Amino acid sequence: DGQAGKYVYDFTEGNKGMKGLLGGKGANLAEMTNLGLPVPPGFTITTEACKVYLASGSEPATLRREVSAHLATLEETMGKKLGQSDDPLLVSVRSGAKFSMPGMMDTVLNVGLSDDSVAGLAQQAGDERFAWDSYRRLIQMFGTTVLGVDGELFEDALDEAKRGRGATTDVELGTADLKKLVKAFKKIVSREAGRDFPQDPREQMDLAIRSVFESWNTDRARLYRRQERIPGDLGTAVNIVAMVFGNLGPDSGTGVAFTRDPASGHQGVYGDYLQNAQGEDVVAGIRNTVPLADLETLDKASYDRLLEIMEILENHYLDLCDIEFTIERGTLWMLQTRVGKRTAGAAFRIATQLVDQGLIDEAEALRRVSGAQLAQLMFPRFDDGAKRDLLGRGIAASPGAAVGKAVFDSYTAIKWSRSGEKVILVRRETNPDDLEGMIAAEGILTSRGGKTSHAAVVARGMGKTCVCGAEELEVDTKKRRLTAGSRVVEEGDVISIDGSTGRVYLDEVPVVPSPVVEYFEGRMHAGAEEAGELVESVHRMMAYADRRRRLRVRANADNTEDALRARRFGAQGIGLCRTEHMFLGERRELVERLILADTDEERDAALGQLLPLQKADFVELFEAMDGLPVTVRLLDPPLHEFLPDITELSVRVALAESRKDANENDLRLLQAVHKLHEQNPMLGLRGVRLGLVIPGLFAMQVRAIAEAAAARREAKGDPRAEVMIPLVGTVQELEIVRDEAERVIADVERATGTELKLSLGTMIELPRAALTAGQIAEAAEFFSFGTNDLTQTVWGFSRDDVEASFFTAYLEKGIFGVSPFETIDRDGVGALVRSAAEAGRATRPDLKLGICGEHGGDPESVHFFHEAGLDYVSCSPFRIPVARLEAGRAAV
Ligand code: ADP
Ligand code: MG
Ligand code: MG
Repeated sequence: DGQAGKYVYDFTEGNKGMKGLLGGKGANLAEMTNLGLPVPPGFTITTEACKVYLASGSEPATLRREVSAHLATLEETMGKKLGQSDDPLLVSVRSGAKFSMPGMMDTVLNVGLSDDSVAGLAQQAGDERFAWDSYRRLIQMFGTTVLGVDGELFEDALDEAKRGRGATTDVELGTADLKKLVKAFKKIVSREAGRDFPQDPREQMDLAIRSVFESWNTDRARLYRRQERIPGDLGTAVNIVAMVFGNLGPDSGTGVAFTRDPASGHQGVYGDYLQNAQGEDVVAGIRNTVPLADLETLDKASYDRLLEIMEILENHYLDLCDIEFTIERGTLWMLQTRVGKRTAGAAFRIATQLVDQGLIDEAEALRRVSGAQLAQLMFPRFDDGAKRDLLGRGIAASPGAAVGKAVFDSYTAIKWSRSGEKVILVRRETNPDDLEGMIAAEGILTSRGGKTSHAAVVARGMGKTCVCGAEELEVDTKKRRLTAGSRVVEEGDVISIDGSTGRVYLDEVPVVPSPVVEYFEGRMHAGAEEAGELVESVHRMMAYADRRRRLRVRANADNTEDALRARRFGAQGIGLCRTEHMFLGERRELVERLILADTDEERDAALGQLLPLQKADFVELFEAMDGLPVTVRLLDPPLHEFLPDITELSVRVALAESRKDANENDLRLLQAVHKLHEQNPMLGLRGVRLGLVIPGLFAMQVRAIAEAAAARREAKGDPRAEVMIPLVGTVQELEIVRDEAERVIADVERATGTELKLSLGTMIELPRAALTAGQIAEAAEFFSFGTNDLTQTVWGFSRDDVEASFFTAYLEKGIFGVSPFETIDRDGVGALVRSAAEAGRATRPDLKLGICGEHGGDPESVHFFHEAGLDYVSCSPFRIPVARLEAGRAAV
């Protein structure tokens, strides 16, 4: 968006659309300049120049000449030269990247002052103290940011000067004190930086520019970018701005303002003001600021002008803006503006307020909010007013507020939760064996591992509160206790964990439910008195999204409770009903019998007992989802998951044998476990392969579905069942299963005299299936992309292994910005989804296409599935509103 080979733009040459090139700060300074607002003149060095510098270690060859030309223009406008002895032009050298990275990079004020020009500045301003104050600020900022001197050394010297004076704030220091301080500061620089503070103003400026470039790559900037998912190669721009002075006495000052309250969204006067100060003082909290409203009495003219400008900015940016300004002896200057950050709740409220004001339309309102914000609004929170006792902090891994008794192993978690206790599972770290315990717990707390640890990833997937990596806490699972410094939490003691902040508290902190969830659950209605503004705006935004989205949203659910909640949350069907969950608990024994069966009779007997149980499950589910499609997946996981653990069983049998009372069944079981043991169960006997080698298993499941559908028909219901075959790699597998299923269905139709209209389809979750999707579509009426397994098989990752072992390293090295299990990998897995969808539709134009991996509830992935032309996404019931909103956002 700029001219080739041009590295410097005057503020009059840019606009707010040029953030990539000029950075947010530069683009908006240009925009305000061109709006005729009072911005001190200046120019911007582009991010392109920064990229050249970072790649080659030196500035572009033409940069110096260009900067000189723009500086000359600036000097002409201001009528004085940079650092000129009798009347110095001073500038600030400010970083500013495309995306705001608050406080992450460098800025130096008062560049151009020296031993020589400080007297000129004093004379021009008629204020010696001011000049020396500005000079000491320059040496301090330049020393720390450009020359890398430890900032505390300056702070200590400043404190000492204040102490010597009996002063508490820097304004109480006089000219003589400041002169002495400058001397001390210069000494610190010479000693610590191994060079004197540069007296040549242009050298000051050039060094400051270079240090801003370099500040792009400091550790904290890199860390911040990784967390915020900001690309690492954008570079920062550098803004050179003529200084205006807020430290010229009581009729001067500096402040920040918001055009609306960033917490509530309400219009009004929000901000802070600090008299007789330079900008960085406000942020640093050195002295107490006064509320912006007080400016009205301090300087009515500037206050009125500021309010006028705030209105101009809102009407121009059509959004909440935040502002930095400075008043120099009664003249107001604008130093920065940008569309301001806001809380999730304010984002929703502001979007609908702006629609009501006629400033933006509904589509634009949708662009102003995000699914992540909605998700945030759906978590219960700890009551703000309640008192709390902090034990320690960890990483906010999965949001929410959970309270329960501390337990230190999964077994206890399950046992206690069965007897009605609420528990928090506390582990050093979790592994797949903890899964059931994690399900049983209210929340999970670990002392090891980061945002991609097993605990974090699994908890996020389940929507369960999790704080991980709380390293200040010592977890001793053997002694069943947690220590935080001198305090000890024993098993059974109550703790509270906040997955949105990472904080861990002793005892119970009261939790308040999210009003947004109350609304989705139908326990609170939009328009009702208690609903409040937030619920109103969520209600309206959901309607905007539903009117525009093309993607349908279904739920992953396998029981009535989840199905009914999904419906309340707006699900348009079930996209994935996992049948393996119906084989657990007491039914596990029947499955064992099926696996152990030696003869057809034994097997048929076991299947015969499972059939009515499965059928009853489906009848209930079809009733809950009456009139909406329900995709039932036939059995998928490896059989050993239904059998006892191999080690445990071996020990039991060995012990029994030593006592000579081994029982027949255990021996057979052990044999079966050995036979079914696999090195890589994920790639072993599972999915459609089970259906092909265990006679009658899939037929039983299809029969249960068909009979359940027939029963619902009989009851005048409207069942819309879809039978889904997992883990197909080739069309031949599907054809065999399909033939058998069709026979069973025809059989049930004959027996019941009803036409069932069941549709049969498959999951696409293996690369070979995706690559031969054209053939597979011959035998499938629908595809559902199983993006969890597809991600595993495309990357060659075993999820349970890699997330715990090396994902942290991968994320840190920037190999991916986010786990491919969280957000779909567009270039790899996504490319396969696209081509398979195309090939499938080429074979069968009315092929229905959906996705049922966890990506179905991930905002960014929803946008991808929209673009790829799928018909629906399916996700966990709780994510449905998020998916609806994002599907709407994808369509505008
Ligand atoms: P950040 O991006 O960390 O906010 P800024 O570049 O905005 O850093 O500058 C830090 C502070 O210095 C801000 O309060 C800003 O308003 C102030 N400031 C920057 N340039 C000038 C200037 N030319 N005159 C007066 N104050 C300035
Ligand atoms: Mg700023
Ligand atoms: Mg799968």
